[in-house]
Amino acid sequence: MFALVDVNNMYVSCERVFRPALNGKPVVVLSNNDGACIARSNEAKDLGVRMAQPWFEVRHLQRTAGLIALSANFELYGDMSSRMMSIAARYAPRQEIYSIDECFLDFDGVPGDLVAIGRELRRQVLAWTGLPTSVGFGATKTLAKLANHVAKTAERKPGSYPGELAQVCNFANLSADQLAAAMQATEVGEVWGIGRKTTARLNECGIRTVLDLVRGDAAALGRQFSVVIEKTVRELHGTACLEVNDAPAANQQIMCSRSFGAPVTDLPTLIEVVSQFTSQVAHKLRDQGSVAGAVHVFIATSPYRRNDRQHAPSATLPLGRPSADTRVLISAAVRALRGVFRPGFNYAKAGVMLVDLQPQAQEHATPDLFADDAQPEGAARGSRSDLMSALDALNQRFGRHAVSVASAARRTGPSAHASKQDRRSPRYTTRIEEIAVARA
Ligand SMILES: [Mg+2]
Repeated sequence: MFALVDVNNMYVSCERVFRPALNGKPVVVLSNNDGACIARSNEAKDLGVRMAQPWFEVRHLQRTAGLIALSANFELYGDMSSRMMSIAARYAPRQEIYSIDECFLDFDGVPGDLVAIGRELRRQVLAWTGLPTSVGFGATKTLAKLANHVAKTAERKPGSYPGELAQVCNFANLSADQLAAAMQATEVGEVWGIGRKTTARLNECGIRTVLDLVRGDAAALGRQFSVVIEKTVRELHGTACLEVNDAPAANQQIMCSRSFGAPVTDLPTLIEVVSQFTSQVAHKLRDQGSVAGAVHVFIATSPYRRNDRQHAPSATLPLGRPSADTRVLISAAVRALRGVFRPGFNYAKAGVMLVDLQPQAQEHATPDLFADDAQPEGAARGSRSDLMSALDALNQRFGRHAVSVASAARRTGPSAHASKQDRRSPRYTTRIEEIAVARA
């Protein structure tokens, strides 16, 4: 059994932890340079604000509906993320972090009532971090994702699903009829990995709900659409065939993480690992024509080595200007790593996540007049510089790691000072000078 734990409206929820006055109000978080809405509270969703909608299109709602907009504070979100992840990791023998606010937990062999465990996990994360989560259980990752969607939607829109499925939903507890009813009440586009284009094509074939898809012939759908759809249908039937690293990327983020065969204790090895992960995610980023606004790095000891002292830090470094240049991204990732690494721990895992993704074109529209001196030369000409194209071409031809960037962490990396972030909240949890003050 898998669980998918997901923070509800992550970025907005992080802001609300420190500013409870935002509770119940329509709130959006804006991307780097305050360009587009990248997170929406339920109230903002109800106002009709769409994901990734440009800020200028909804700005008038400030006056007419009390909409509150904040600049993204990735340093805060990254730190809250690692707190949430380390709590969730206590509940199952295996955790796979999937995005900044989602992880899979593998409950294979765990006895007991999973819904009760899910509720306890939810309560603990809320008590210790202030973040509300939804938990979905299913026999495969695709089913766990879907159960999570049901749990979240049932809470947000009471009555949208029959029965008691809000907040924590375990598909294994449903009868065949109940499961079919939940699948019928869910649009096919909500299934993990089914994007907008595929949804449109499926709709043309009369496949509108998840139930329509499940009742289809997996092999035939595979021939007609793609092998991914075939795997998805098999997963919806309960046959696991997706690994997290092959799985569809989360919205707005690209990541690479791995557990090590043997514990790593030294910084140079971690720098090498993190540089390699960053090269991989940078390549994916360029492939999809995006640039990233921030780099999130995490390292962790293993909770199963009970005699080891535990340490699971992370850091998020906003870039002065969004970039897809491997050198810029490695420089930021290594700087983040140096900031959190402590000697004397047996690290068992590391990961790199690119967040605040946006289409590459935007980079040219917002030249960075205060570009950091540490930006490598050439990077200034645009993310897909000739050098990066050459790098990708060589790696495609001679194998993934044929050519890479020698990791040279700069003493002064990219910083946030140049980006326009007029509405950013304090970095409460990572900067002592910005710590929250309580007045009594
Ligand atoms: Mg979420």
